[in-house]
Amino acid sequence: MGTATLHIDLDALVANWRALDAMSADTVETGAVVKADGYGLGAGRVARALYHAGARRFFIAVAEEAAALREAMGPDPQILVMGGHMPGDTDMINDLHLVPMLNSIEQMTRHFEALPGHPFGIQLDSGMNRLGLEPAEWEAAKPIAMAQGPELIMSHLACADEPESEMNARQLRTFLEMTEGLDVPRSLAATGGILMGPEYHFEVTRPGIGLYGGLPFADAMPVVKLSVPVIQVRDVAPGEPVGYGCTWTADEPTRVATLSAGYGDGVIRLMGNTAVAFADDVPCPLVGRVSMDLITVDITHLPTAPTHLDLLSEYQSVDDLAGAAETIGYEILTALGGSRYRRRYAGR
Ligand SMILES: *Cc1c(COP(=O)(O)O)cnc(C)c1O
Repeated sequence: MGTATLHIDLDALVANWRALDAMSADTVETGAVVKADGYGLGAGRVARALYHAGARRFFIAVAEEAAALREAMGPDPQILVMGGHMPGDTDMINDLHLVPMLNSIEQMTRHFEALPGHPFGIQLDSGMNRLGLEPAEWEAAKPIAMAQGPELIMSHLACADEPESEMNARQLRTFLEMTEGLDVPRSLAATGGILMGPEYHFEVTRPGIGLYGGLPFADAMPVVKLSVPVIQVRDVAPGEPVGYGCTWTADEPTRVATLSAGYGDGVIRLMGNTAVAFADDVPCPLVGRVSMDLITVDITHLPTAPTHLDLLSEYQSVDDLAGAAETIGYEILTALGGSRYRRRYAGR
């Protein structure tokens, strides 16, 4: 078996959802963000586990992501599309009973004309300048939107992973002003916003990364373990190079293991000569460049040649590994998504 195995602990995922849910009042509904195929872990399996735990609102980026979710969960839970109602989406939104979060006057017009009476939500721009109606646009569009009865009004924080940033309070103030007096459920907090406390919670929260074991939810349980098979082990003599470009050279006798995963599997190329893989709890440094299908690892200090090494486990979180590639846990997880790994689910 040459392919690596991505072990996904659905019980840990559910425990993380419950822990985030417990941080807000009982009156606050905790949803779940399952975009990008559930942050690379399989949206259908992830959503079904969270549905059984009690989640009823699932957020995705684009309508195309909904088919697998609807199939996995059935007609009951709400699926909200944060990218809104795009040209060509109308049939999917109708057939799969999706709730588009309308981001502009253009999207509002498209939705109300194509699917009159079909549920929708509104996304407001409270300062991030990425998605949603800006304050002046909302002022003009509000009467029309409110007459149609939105399911949810949401906005997104730009700096929720930096609780001390004054941007958070500024966006909170703007969101409060834009939604003042409206009798519609509101949502502002993703994982970082939940951790910042009750004034950010409103009626619905939308955690993503924290469910999957990533920062800023530092107390999250690890959800993923990535075990990569060792294909071959060799002894490299002092002065001999390893890998493309000969960027690493042995300065003493070294045992090098060649593992079956590379940048074609989401092992980011910047990790060459920087990241470590683990034999249980023993770190083993990557030596040489990351290839498309292979990495090379120094295992000189191990008593026996291992059958596999772990790139992610209880000893190395997605954020630990991200540090070796100057990126964030989010990118590590989603990079694994389109990969050749076998996914193995435990729990639920
Ligand atoms: C991705 C995303 C989320 C989830 O954010 P996390 O930081 O992963 O919890 C919530 N809302 C919006 C609009 C998003 O784009």
